[in-house]
Amino acid sequence: MRIILLGAPGSGKGTQSAYLVDKYEIPQISTGDILRKAVTDGTELGKKAESFMTSGGLVPDDVILGMIRERLQDEDTERGFIFDGFPRSIPQAEGLDDIFGEIGMTLDRVLEIRVPFETILTRMTSRRVCAHCGAVYNLRSQPPKVDGICDRCGRAEVVQREDDSEETVRHRLQIYETSTAPLVEYYERRGLLSVVEGDKAPQDVFSEIVQVLEDSGNAL
Ligand SMILES: [Zn+2]
Repeated sequence: MRIILLGAPGSGKGTQSAYLVDKYEIPQISTGDILRKAVTDGTELGKKAESFMTSGGLVPDDVILGMIRERLQDEDTERGFIFDGFPRSIPQAEGLDDIFGEIGMTLDRVLEIRVPFETILTRMTSRRVCAHCGAVYNLRSQPPKVDGICDRCGRAEVVQREDDSEETVRHRLQIYETSTAPLVEYYERRGLLSVVEGDKAPQDVFSEIVQVLEDSGNAL
């Protein structure tokens, strides 16, 4: 089963990806992991990528696509894979199509986990961390027993990180929307897109995903 998983930060994409890995015994492929591994292994592409990274630049698409191409030929992808966080743009999606064409693979489904903007905003801005010991809380699902006091270390240092502030989250969500909307359209036109409602319990979201995969004839 070859899947691309799309979803905003805070949509629960990571959780669903882990469920998919478990159920279908397929690897999750993220460009971050591939990059790190190629750099560590010192492959030709890894060296190229490293030179861009150390000079503070973005790794160009052809390097990323080259790594993806190599990764797709690893044995563990025989049963399929999940792309998480890739492709990020139309040129990457087109490059991926070319790779599939070359190595004789087809993409089975693109799943988009859709959660209302305001719901994600609430989810993400509810995060709190202890500035002293790093314990993580969520005001909605797992608040500290006493408001503002860390359960673990007892200090009154439970705070909202700058990354979780409403302004920052809004900004990140807008960037996601802008970059992902064209991809959604791209895969919709090819009849590959399925939208899954992500505004419910993780297990229920996953049931819907499994249903979608079965209905489209992709479940193993
Ligand atoms: Zn603490």
